[in-house]
Amino acid sequence: MTQPPLLPGATLGVMGGGQLGRMFVHAAQSMGYFTAVLDPDASSPAGRVSHHHVQTDYLDAQGLAELARLCDAVTTEFENVPAPALAQLAAQRPVAPAAEAVAIAQDRSAEKAHFTRIGVPCAPYAEITDQASLERVGAQLLPGILKTARMGYDGKGQARVRTREELAAAWARLQRVPCVLEQMLPLADECSVIVARGRDGAMVNFPVQHNLHRDGILAVTTVHEGVLPAAICEKAVAAARAVAEGLAYVGVLCVEFFVLQDGRLVVNEIAPRPHNSGHYSIDACDVSQFDLQVRTLAGLPLVAPRLHSPSVMLNLLGDLWFDANGQRAQVSAEAVTPPWDAVLALPGVHLHLYGKLKAARARKMGHLNVTGATPEAVRATALRVAAILG
Ligand code: ADP
Ligand code: MG
Repeated sequence: MTQPPLLPGATLGVMGGGQLGRMFVHAAQSMGYFTAVLDPDASSPAGRVSHHHVQTDYLDAQGLAELARLCDAVTTEFENVPAPALAQLAAQRPVAPAAEAVAIAQDRSAEKAHFTRIGVPCAPYAEITDQASLERVGAQLLPGILKTARMGYDGKGQARVRTREELAAAWARLQRVPCVLEQMLPLADECSVIVARGRDGAMVNFPVQHNLHRDGILAVTTVHEGVLPAAICEKAVAAARAVAEGLAYVGVLCVEFFVLQDGRLVVNEIAPRPHNSGHYSIDACDVSQFDLQVRTLAGLPLVAPRLHSPSVMLNLLGDLWFDANGQRAQVSAEAVTPPWDAVLALPGVHLHLYGKLKAARARKMGHLNVTGATPEAVRATALRVAAILG
């Protein structure tokens, strides 16, 4: 039975108060919804802009009951929301994505099993859960990358290993938690595709995003016609849609891919939520990934997003708030505030800051979207931005 859509005036909730939650809240509020955020941090980016902020731990039964009471439906902004929390909410309110899909995205082993099940190739890998599985690792997986099965992000919880000895030492350093060892692949490029799937199974997707990582963290996303060969883009879109379909997914889902030097496409991982590589959509598409998160949660019709400008997204990390001597400023302090006025003097620059009160190295503080008439113009502006920010 299909439920009627939740129309503006209803209250939409989100588990997690980070920047993704904040941009969801902005999108929901601009359409006339009320919002509620559950996050333990009093100064969380989303909590500070939401109508309601339930300030408790993610597993706090009272906090969850309060969120359910306030909201007509609940979504999540990060994949490590404990599954029992989503299950408690789902007993009272529609929750999207479902706990089962989030549980798969939380665990690299389960994720890879899903890719295998639906026939989308991923990197050759082995699960490492005990000494015996460590010793069974085939030589063809080395050199490789050891990744904790759970809780890794922005390159954290990973170690590059060349030999069995390095593998054993790295697993010990990771406290012998369940891991996967992936073969180190010869990457030519990285890309991602974001899809939105509704309760009725209708699905739309954003264009393929070309991603550049530095130190395991996304640095630059470029999107325009021809950013990667058409055959790769078609495969990536088809694979992303198959991944969502196979999970009976409801909500916004990002699928990350590797393009290998021999031209093969290999799936890397999924994120059961909007993604950093989709932030360009706020300024370069007629509907953003956050607009579609609102629509999937509310049960509104989905419309295919249209890219109306070539775009480059530059992540703004906390390093920008440190001076040449390595001293950190308060985010509000004049001295080390990046020169936003100079950056904003350039054409087609859109600044998004997440309202975080403290800068830390490698912490995502905001992003800049650059739009323009042509990919070349956008690239030229992005290079000027980079030169100003240093
Ligand atoms: P995270 O969850 O931290 O994003 P990923 O698994 O996406 O972790 O890895 C982060 C980055 O490390 C990737 O974007 C890619 O640049 C590199 N990487 C990860 N796995 C491999 C691999 N098997 N071969 C080559 N590079 C990899
Ligand atoms: Mg990743």
